[in-house]
Amino acid sequence: MVSISQCFSESYAEARTKFCGAAAEAGGALRSYFNPHAKGPDGGNLYLDTARFGPADAANMLVMISSTHGVEGHCGSGAQIAWLRTGGATKLPKDTGALLVHAINPYGFAWTRRVNEDNVDLNRNFVDHDKGYPKNDGYLAIADAILPARWDDTSIAETERTFAAYAQKHGAFGLQGAISGGQYTHPDGIFYGGAKPTWSNRTIRAIAREELGRAKRVGLIDYHTGLGPFGHGELICTVPPGAKSFARAKAWYGDEMTSPEGGTSTSAIVAGPMLDSFPQELPDAEVTSIAIEYGTYAVPEVLGAVRADNWVHQRGDLKSTLGRELKANMKERFFPAGDKWREMVWTRADQTIGWTLKGLTTG
Ligand SMILES: [Zn+2]
Repeated sequence: MVSISQCFSESYAEARTKFCGAAAEAGGALRSYFNPHAKGPDGGNLYLDTARFGPADAANMLVMISSTHGVEGHCGSGAQIAWLRTGGATKLPKDTGALLVHAINPYGFAWTRRVNEDNVDLNRNFVDHDKGYPKNDGYLAIADAILPARWDDTSIAETERTFAAYAQKHGAFGLQGAISGGQYTHPDGIFYGGAKPTWSNRTIRAIAREELGRAKRVGLIDYHTGLGPFGHGELICTVPPGAKSFARAKAWYGDEMTSPEGGTSTSAIVAGPMLDSFPQELPDAEVTSIAIEYGTYAVPEVLGAVRADNWVHQRGDLKSTLGRELKANMKERFFPAGDKWREMVWTRADQTIGWTLKGLTTG
């Protein structure tokens, strides 16, 4: 009997060991991609690992990606390992393979951060960097409150006043959009999209071409946490409602699927999500993708943890009591302790994988 809770890990290093072990045991072909730009907090090397299952020329490919937002990899890695340990690879339909991408953002996973080694939010980094960046006037208006000089009761109260005034004018979801929609003006801020394609961006594109270039149909699941009701996995379609793949995703996931642009999601509309890279790199394949977003805590608590984490890394001291407290809070907000949440994560992931395989093979 597989213990689902034990498929989840407390650290990146533990997750990597478990993932590679479970993938090897399941007969997967493993590949490791070394990130030369950063080390873990223990000084250890950082890798993105992939495991591939099924025939090399499979027409259908199920792809699962963890850790796009670093710390959210505790969730995605756990789901991937649960899939491996419960025999997922042995249950693949005919002419169907699977590719598991573990820790696409190993720095963020290892350091308990959403961002990568460049302080970049990967899910805002897949814009066309040769074109002008999307504007975010809301972020500009509250940037100083987002990253205060000090982190104490006075600055916290001041930030709350600024946010409340903004929400009064633009609504709570408007505030969430200003903070989390993505920005390209403050490299030391949060939800920063970067000024060029990151290592993870370039690496996942190469993996897509190499591993999925022969597939006719690709079904992607990208694991996230931090929005929505505790333990619930919202299936978010990140392509615009007019896109061809939107209708396909709707057929696969039905009314369970939500859309930021359609106004049915807990997520703000986001520029440059990672999933955009797959149809770009695989123009001849039918790519259908969703982000599965698991709820943890209320939005202000989650966004507060992200701000605090950014402050610690930009202006604080990781080794101080405050630094350690804020980091522990960050982990809990994106990876709640206890068995219940993890079991809910896997139940929903298992169900979603089933819908994806059905879509791939009957589409
Ligand atoms: Zn996320």
